[in-house]
Amino acid sequence: MLCRYRPKGVCDANLLYQAATERGADPVTSTVVRDSVAAARTGREPGTVAIIGGGASGALTARAIARNSAWRTVLISPESRPGRGVAYGPAEEWHLLNSRAAAMSADSTDPQQLLRWCRERGIPADAASFLPRPVYGDYLADQFASAAGPRLSHHRATALAVRPDGPRWIVTDDTGAETRAEHLILALGNPAPCVPSAVGDEARDDVAFVADPWAPGALDAVPADQPVLLLGTGLTAIDVALTLTRDPRAAPLEALSRRGMLPRAHPAVPAPAVDLEVEATQSLSPLIRRLRQAVADGAHWSAVMDTVRHQADRLWAGLDTAAQERFLRHAQRYWEVHRHRMAPPVAARITALRDSGALRVRSGRLTSVEPDPRGGLLVRVEGEQPKRYGAVITCTGPGPLPCSGGPLLKGMFDDGLLRTGPHALGVDTDDDGQARPGLWLVGPLRRGRLWESTAVPEIRSQAERLAAALPEPAEHHLRTATA
Ligand SMILES: Cc1cc2nc3c(=O)[nH]c(=O)nc-3n(C[C@H](O)[C@H](O)[C@H](O)COP(=O)(O)OP(=O)(O)OC[C@H]3O[C@@H](n4cnc5c(N)ncnc54)[C@H](O)[C@@H]3O)c2cc1C
Repeated sequence: MLCRYRPKGVCDANLLYQAATERGADPVTSTVVRDSVAAARTGREPGTVAIIGGGASGALTARAIARNSAWRTVLISPESRPGRGVAYGPAEEWHLLNSRAAAMSADSTDPQQLLRWCRERGIPADAASFLPRPVYGDYLADQFASAAGPRLSHHRATALAVRPDGPRWIVTDDTGAETRAEHLILALGNPAPCVPSAVGDEARDDVAFVADPWAPGALDAVPADQPVLLLGTGLTAIDVALTLTRDPRAAPLEALSRRGMLPRAHPAVPAPAVDLEVEATQSLSPLIRRLRQAVADGAHWSAVMDTVRHQADRLWAGLDTAAQERFLRHAQRYWEVHRHRMAPPVAARITALRDSGALRVRSGRLTSVEPDPRGGLLVRVEGEQPKRYGAVITCTGPGPLPCSGGPLLKGMFDDGLLRTGPHALGVDTDDDGQARPGLWLVGPLRRGRLWESTAVPEIRSQAERLAAALPEPAEHHLRTATA
């Protein structure tokens, strides 16, 4: 049996080699094993960067490091092909990107790369296209695969715990292996969605309640002959509505949120870009006035959003804490519905569903959800009669940290290795994404310190900046040797 819980530093290469052979892994291609064996043979360990997480953030960061530095990188994630993650892995062909292809290249220095990749495969696309998300997932997976080689490899595993060991980090995982790295990058995606507190404990355990619509098979048992309630009216609710209406339904879907606001649609033809430099202020009102003025002066609102989105981190950082809180309370939802927009074909389908009565979008305050003795769930909305649904599906956004972070993150918070950033939206880091020496974050978990940290263009630039900020391995060894 392997050394998962052995004291630090005693998990040697022979044990790893033996364990890999026992579980049928090829010890030559299993990076952790191979390098530990090599280290044991040569008496020195190669400089290693470990990345935990194989979605867009992990894959783009791995690729950027492989291209820009001499570190050897191990990406740890359970998927067979890193790159797709939650957004582009479980998606169906009717789930389209909510950004145009022009914005989605994996390489900021080569904006045409995605379009070339499509062309080479006979996939029709131009700069203004909204590609199917599974196609984009294949593209990201290809980007990782083509960067993989002697200096970049994938260790297929789920990380269980992280601990520091002098200047290194040790990651233990569910295969029993330990990965030692000088630098560790967490690319774990969003915290899990928060189940609304109105959903009682018994309802949470009921088969009619779906806590995570992205879990494999989560929507398979949702009945077509009974009303279904979606908790949330954002892009996740749209995705779920598209999936549940692929086949005709005998009973309608309802989507409920406090304001009942749906994401806006992209204009069919991109609006002309605006030249707008917004000055940072400590309070919110001047910013909102400035944006309204730009629209009043004739700019299309979507072009204003597209410009301001690239200034959002600077503007967010300029607000004082009270103004940030006011934004979260009063303006966040308005920002989101204008910023995260539906592709035009998706918007057209949603309009058709609403017009036919197959989808009802409404506002209201959920007060309780409990099992109904007749089956399904009984839902109460403030000021309305209770109503029975065949299924209730959580379509809300990510929950706050640390409670929504999953066991690995929770352990790191408990051990004092991480602390939450502003408003508990993410993890606190410096401007390059470093939470403490040698421990880095990339992707949505940096929200709070940053405002825009979710979409591919922002993740891509975080990945490139992180790769540039890593010291070269020789420099790292010199620093730790003289420290
Ligand atoms: C439905 C949806 C649609 C989107 N559409 C767009 C779009 O059109 N355009 C755009 O720019 N952005 C879009 N985004 C936003 C953005 O692309 C995603 O947020 C981004 O892909 C996040 O990637 P990630 O790698 O950070 O997270 P994830 O995709 O969530 O990946 C997290 C990874 O971490 C791994 N992991 C977690 N815990 C462990 C562990 N303990 N050990 C090992 N591995 C672990 C998971 O297996 C997974 O590989 C979309 C997001 C979603 C959710």
